[in-house]
Amino acid sequence: MNKVILLDNRPVGKPALSDFKFISEEMPVADDGEILLKTVYVSVDPYLRGRMNDAKSYVPPFELHKPISSGIIAQVVDSNDSAFKIGDYVSGNLDWKEYQVSTGNGLQLIGAPDIDVSAYLGVLGMTGLTAYLGLLEIGVPKQGETLVVSGAAGAVGSVVGQIGKIMGCRVVGITGSDHKANFLKSKFHFDETINYKNTVDLNRAIKTTCPDGVDIYFDNVGGKISDAVLQNINKHARMPLCGAISMYNNTSQALGPYVQPILVSKSALMQGFIVSDFADKFPAAKKQLFNWLKEGTLTYHETVINGFDAIPEAFLGLFEGNNEGKMIVKV
Ligand code: NDP
Repeated sequence: MNKVILLDNRPVGKPALSDFKFISEEMPVADDGEILLKTVYVSVDPYLRGRMNDAKSYVPPFELHKPISSGIIAQVVDSNDSAFKIGDYVSGNLDWKEYQVSTGNGLQLIGAPDIDVSAYLGVLGMTGLTAYLGLLEIGVPKQGETLVVSGAAGAVGSVVGQIGKIMGCRVVGITGSDHKANFLKSKFHFDETINYKNTVDLNRAIKTTCPDGVDIYFDNVGGKISDAVLQNINKHARMPLCGAISMYNNTSQALGPYVQPILVSKSALMQGFIVSDFADKFPAAKKQLFNWLKEGTLTYHETVINGFDAIPEAFLGLFEGNNEGKMIVKV
């Protein structure tokens, strides 16, 4: 039998294990022109939380009592399509099922056996592209500038910080533990870090770690952390708004400081984006990320959770800060 994970309830506030349901179904069989895929790695991502609400957004909501889907690396185990051979690895947005059939539509063949295929869910996949394009297209980093990154030890943040260093910036990362803060310096070469969970006065901590002010703020978290960074921006600062995970489980409208006076007085840019806004730039961005990875200029880290049954738990762990780098489930 084939295991499948459904969305059983729309979460209110923080999602819980009871919002997910495991069912068994008959093993699928590939028909004419179809391929049979075995799930190998599953990406769990903060944006999936938004899809669990019954609200219109840039991606449609998940349907209740239907399989959840996300970025998945799968292996072809049967093929009636000459474009796919048994043993090939593919990536795409697929259902949380152990096995599934596909027409191959929307799937990408992975053709670099010397790089671990899981990297195509992170640094060489959606989160790497988000880091690269959000920083370069909106942040426009320049040599000697100060870049602050929130959610710095996560999938997007850890790549943003490294690209900032490649571009010659001084990079300051905000994260949720001393272990992560040390890791940012030792593995990803951040210049300074702030553990927001044990910092009483974030505004002061940013002033201290950014003595020349903040030129670019890559915002992954929103909320109070971002309010504090905003107090320290320089004239002509750029702020790519990538995500707001600190607010994804809010049950009422949060009221923050009004940002307009600061943006006006600093001639600053705050711009939200969805990575697909830059779809025309994906091929060049992928090539650059791949080359940096091959030459060792860029590195990555994954938190790998084992087992299909652990997918919901891994997803919930994102809201507890359980991951360093990309959170991935190995099935
Ligand atoms: P991460 O790998 O960064 O995982 C989530 C991390 O968020 C956790 O490890 C935790 O780290 C931090 N976090 C959780 N709750 C809070 C909180 N209340 N306050 C502050 N930090 C918190 O995820 P991704 O790198 O995949 O995504 C990062 C952000 O980018 C998300 O907001 C996501 O939605 C967004 N995103 C946007 C895209 C776009 O196209 N715009 C595409 C991809 C991602 P810690 O221990 O530091 O608290």
